[in-house]
Amino acid sequence: MPYEERIAIIGAGPVGLTTALGLARRGVPCVVYEAGETIAREQRGAAFHPPTLEMLRSLGVESALMGMGLRIPVWQMRDRVDGVYAEFDLGLLADVTDFPFRYHLPQYYLSNVLLDELRRQPDVELRFGETLQSVETDGNSARLVLSTAAGQSETHAPWVVGADGARSTVRKTGGFTFDGFTWREKFLVTNVRGCLEDLGYTGTAYVSDPDAWAVVLKLYDESCDDLWRVAMPADPDTDDDALLTPENVQERLKEVLGTDKSFSLVYSGTYRVHQRVADTFVKGPILLAGDAAHINNPIGGFGLNGGVHDAFNLANRLADVWQGKAGPELLELYSRQRRTVALEVVQKNSIRNKNLMEERDPEVRRRNQKALRDISLDTEKSREYLMETSMISSIRRAEQVN
Ligand SMILES: Cc1cc2nc3c(=O)[nH]c(=O)nc-3n(C[C@H](O)[C@H](O)[C@H](O)COP(=O)(O)OP(=O)(O)OC[C@H]3O[C@@H](n4cnc5c(N)ncnc54)[C@H](O)[C@@H]3O)c2cc1C
Repeated sequence: MPYEERIAIIGAGPVGLTTALGLARRGVPCVVYEAGETIAREQRGAAFHPPTLEMLRSLGVESALMGMGLRIPVWQMRDRVDGVYAEFDLGLLADVTDFPFRYHLPQYYLSNVLLDELRRQPDVELRFGETLQSVETDGNSARLVLSTAAGQSETHAPWVVGADGARSTVRKTGGFTFDGFTWREKFLVTNVRGCLEDLGYTGTAYVSDPDAWAVVLKLYDESCDDLWRVAMPADPDTDDDALLTPENVQERLKEVLGTDKSFSLVYSGTYRVHQRVADTFVKGPILLAGDAAHINNPIGGFGLNGGVHDAFNLANRLADVWQGKAGPELLELYSRQRRTVALEVVQKNSIRNKNLMEERDPEVRRRNQKALRDISLDTEKSREYLMETSMISSIRRAEQVN
């Protein structure tokens, strides 16, 4: 089938590739345009929640994924000074999901598994090294301008899915807004070798402190079985060269982890964090999904997971429209459902989580910690909290929107 008749997906990140596989499973032809030459091995999302694993199972990639990764059933809330104040065990949800754990696996492993599967699909074209320059509505279809090393070209698509990440060209040239705010501090992300289990950490921990809070995750890596991610705040007025000296990083690690121990540093970097949601996820033939549509801080692991949930919802609706089982108004339902979740659940909870971890008032901090400890000690309340934090409730919330 000529490219102009296929659904165009911009971006071969986890969201674009999940959308492509969702369409392929329904027999809908698509073409994926990706600016890079390969899947980037970046230090980004690394934790999957139960509903995401259920969706990936239904796309047929469960066994490839579950052969890697780490199952983390128990996660902790800690105070930097006083230690653990609450622990939550996803095993309590074993009657609700077949995946009662967080699954730690850097997102490029998922992208590579999806890519392997997509290469076997006759209806999918993968075009690496092609960068979208602009998109606009042209009658009932979308007009795309693309560039490659060989020059610029133009094509059309009946629908185009912008899965091209936080700086989305689809969003910017397609006329969407992206309101919200940027947090003042930078995030300093490190990968370290060294057994944090010896310091009492389970595979996921959120460490509260007004100045030195941290998110601690045990990472999967095929060549190293003792790798941990520690993400913490960094001064926005200090330049990266100074923030990223090994001495500074070691000092910050000792401070947030409350230890004199030095760590073997495998990676460190900084990035800016935003809270933004597009005004709509559909404008005529132009659709947005994943980071192109919404971005948030990483505390709670909602960004990557929420993007895969968009992709799953969107692929099914686009397939129905493509196959004539529904009109294009079904895509408005996609936008309403996923945008509601982005605003009511992901933005709200990620901002709440960050505020909780960095609360400055000792009295409020003590009250917050007691409230969470009380929840963790009550089975029914724990279940409710786990349903929310594992994003199971957000899938149910989306289904209620019509
Ligand atoms: C440093 C960092 C740390 C993070 N940590 C976490 C975390 O701990 N937990 C979590 O849940 N989330 C985290 N995230 C967010 C998570 O990585 C994203 O939510 C996720 O990658 C979104 O996937 P996506 O496919 O929408 O976008 P992306 O993964 O950004 O993929 C977009 C793709 O589009 C391609 N592209 C871009 N522009 C064009 C164009 N014009 N033409 C063609 N192709 C294009 C890009 O090359 C890329 O391959 C983090 C993000 C960053 C930056």
